[in-house]
Amino acid sequence: MSEVFRGNFTQQEPIPEAGIEAALRVLRSGRLHRYNTVPGEVAETVLLEQEFAAYTGARYCLAVASGGYALGAALRAVGVKAGDPVLTNAFTLAPVPGSIAAVGALPVYVGVTEDLVIDLDDLATKAGQARVLLLSHMRGHICDMDRLMAICEAAGVTVIEDCAHTMGAAWRGIPSGRWGKIGCYSTQTYKHMNSGEGGLLISDDAEAMARAIMLSGSYMLYESHKAGPAPEVFARIRYETPNVSGRMDNLRAAILRPQLADLASQCARWNERYATVEMGLADTPGLRLIARPEAEAYVASSFQFLLLDWPTAAITDVIARCARRGVELKWFGAAEPVGFTSRYDSWDYAPHPPMPATDRVLAAILDMRLPLTFSLEDCAQIARIIRAEVSGVWQSA
Ligand SMILES: *Cc1c(COP(=O)(O)O)cnc(C)c1O
Repeated sequence: MSEVFRGNFTQQEPIPEAGIEAALRVLRSGRLHRYNTVPGEVAETVLLEQEFAAYTGARYCLAVASGGYALGAALRAVGVKAGDPVLTNAFTLAPVPGSIAAVGALPVYVGVTEDLVIDLDDLATKAGQARVLLLSHMRGHICDMDRLMAICEAAGVTVIEDCAHTMGAAWRGIPSGRWGKIGCYSTQTYKHMNSGEGGLLISDDAEAMARAIMLSGSYMLYESHKAGPAPEVFARIRYETPNVSGRMDNLRAAILRPQLADLASQCARWNERYATVEMGLADTPGLRLIARPEAEAYVASSFQFLLLDWPTAAITDVIARCARRGVELKWFGAAEPVGFTSRYDSWDYAPHPPMPATDRVLAAILDMRLPLTFSLEDCAQIARIIRAEVSGVWQSA
């Protein structure tokens, strides 16, 4: 009898008790809106912004309604207008090109390498085509940020970072989100902190942050933003920046603050799980693991591997066999988008000229979450099942 995994790939841990208690305090107060405070009170949302700014080392922070909202606000805050081309990753998730489309701008896709990061040679070729790069650290893989920034600085390209999968991660000791002009995070249930929905935006740039705060729906209450720029910065932009409401509320902030306090230890727990799967899959014939460079301090809340240049039928066979044994693999090579997984050539609202090198990598990517509800023994079992099924299909091919 072959073993079957019984865990649930989408089950996150409960909200910490301290977060539940803080949420109840907010609910009992009735003051859920961030600008609804009594004299002397500092809103939970403001405290979260101050704490997240301190955590990342950023001067300014803004809490918003979702990660996708943060991306859209960041694009507007750096001046992206309807019709502008915006460089972005071909390998990412739909909210990234979606945020570009939402401001009426046009995604220009940059390819992905076998290490699952943005193809910097392709970026160097295309950098002249746009003023902004929306860089997605997709599935937590961080490219050579020194080289990326050099390419973008030389071409006059402003970088916005999508850190939905890199909260807590760094390149050469500098946190992800601190390289570009603005860093954007998601606190949606499947990310590194869970408030159901939510987002955070960080920057050292006073004017960009003032615009983001106005955009988020601050009315003229921006002076209560303790992690925001000085009032005179708003004076310059407050009449020309539209209100595109997308604030975070005190309930979500209250849930997130205790999670931020625990984030470093949670990140270490994700990485133990990743290392267990990685070890279990080492030297599996036909299976390629993703190299993790020395300079990359990653937070591996998910796991990817490649079945590079395998025939489609063999890959679908592996997926079906693993599924029968309880291991759900997501595949970026599927002809039709499924669940959360779609690809650049299914986003028909933007032109997508063929990218054969990228297609070869996408067709090979298998992906799974590693929620913290999995034990290390669960992770070892998952690796045994994948190893057995990949080896079986490989040998019969
Ligand atoms: C989840 C996600 C987002 C958007 O976050 P939401 O909070 O769901 O809007 C952006 N980029 C990537 C890569 C994501 O996975």
